[in-house]
Amino acid sequence: MTGSIRSDAASVRLEDGHGRRFEYLRLSLTDVCNFRCSYCLPDGYRKAKGAPANLSVDEIRRLVSAFAALGLWKVRLTGGEPTLRAEFLDIAAAVAAVPGVRKIAVTTNGYRLAARAQSYADAGIGAINISMDSLKPDRFHAITGHDRLNEILAGIDACRAAGIASIKLNSVLLKGLNDDELDDFIAFVVQHDLVLRFIEVMRTNDNPDYFAAHHLAGTFVANRLEGLGWQRQARQPGAGPAIEYANPHGPGRIGIIAPYSKDFCASCNRLRVSATGKLHLCLFGDAGIDLRPLLQRDGQQDELVERLQRLVATKAPAHLLHQGNSGATPHLASIGG
Ligand code: SAM
Ligand code: SF4
Repeated sequence: MTGSIRSDAASVRLEDGHGRRFEYLRLSLTDVCNFRCSYCLPDGYRKAKGAPANLSVDEIRRLVSAFAALGLWKVRLTGGEPTLRAEFLDIAAAVAAVPGVRKIAVTTNGYRLAARAQSYADAGIGAINISMDSLKPDRFHAITGHDRLNEILAGIDACRAAGIASIKLNSVLLKGLNDDELDDFIAFVVQHDLVLRFIEVMRTNDNPDYFAAHHLAGTFVANRLEGLGWQRQARQPGAGPAIEYANPHGPGRIGIIAPYSKDFCASCNRLRVSATGKLHLCLFGDAGIDLRPLLQRDGQQDELVERLQRLVATKAPAHLLHQGNSGATPHLASIGG
């Protein structure tokens, strides 16, 4: 089956050969990170020799404009740690100004969030996902290499005060490291009326032993939530792959991102572009397709739009994780998790 390539203005959109539509771009701004999360960059960030420069603000504007011309309306800024980019606020503002973009989200480790939340809101960021893998300061330190849990908690308050409409927590639940905190996380969500996503640890090229030791299936969380009376929500049309649970006693919500579960890829609604301009059709795919030659000057948008449509049409139906193939990704910081 091949994806349809549409060029009439009324129906220009990004669609693959398996009926999936793409309206959501995850854009990495840098692969640099200051944390050392044990499942991602356990030895800290190391610059690769001869690595190309990150996309400039203008290149990002051209890239997002082409995606927006194809109906894409949501952009998540990620990394590495996206907020470490010196031009972070300029990039957010440039993306916000692209006609058609309605939602700018960021995924962050929460570094300096308390001091910066207002500036993020002012730049147009309306959604923030904050990674938090433990509610215990010493554990948080052990997993991330940073003793900053209290800073991150203050950052959540600052996001609320700044009026950021969507605030979500991301937690990777790890066998033997923080799985005994599941009930504490659930209680935290209830107490603070928050939305939290549990992410199954994913195997990448760099972490096969870690994965084997600490992977925990999303069903562990689902069973506990159902035991506590949480209700699994019906999937909304166009929703991403998270399985959502609602708390019967309050507004808190918990999602489970379980890439090893059956049919995970069927609801894939996202594309990724790395900090250096490579299109990744799948998080667990190949080395990426270089878009940079079409980003270096204005006036190439039509060509870029056509290229994106042709490339996306070839997106594979599913990842090959179950065959032990996690693709070319060394760690998620390299292409933006
Ligand atoms: N540095 C930012 C952060 O940590 O939020 C953004 C980039 S990070 C790669 C994005 C998300 O990917 C984080 O929530 C992180 O916990 C998650 N992540 C990183 N490596 C992972 C892995 N191997 N398996 C599952 N989640 C992972
Ligand atoms: Fe950095 Fe995020 Fe990877 Fe942690 S998960 S090392 S914060 S990029």
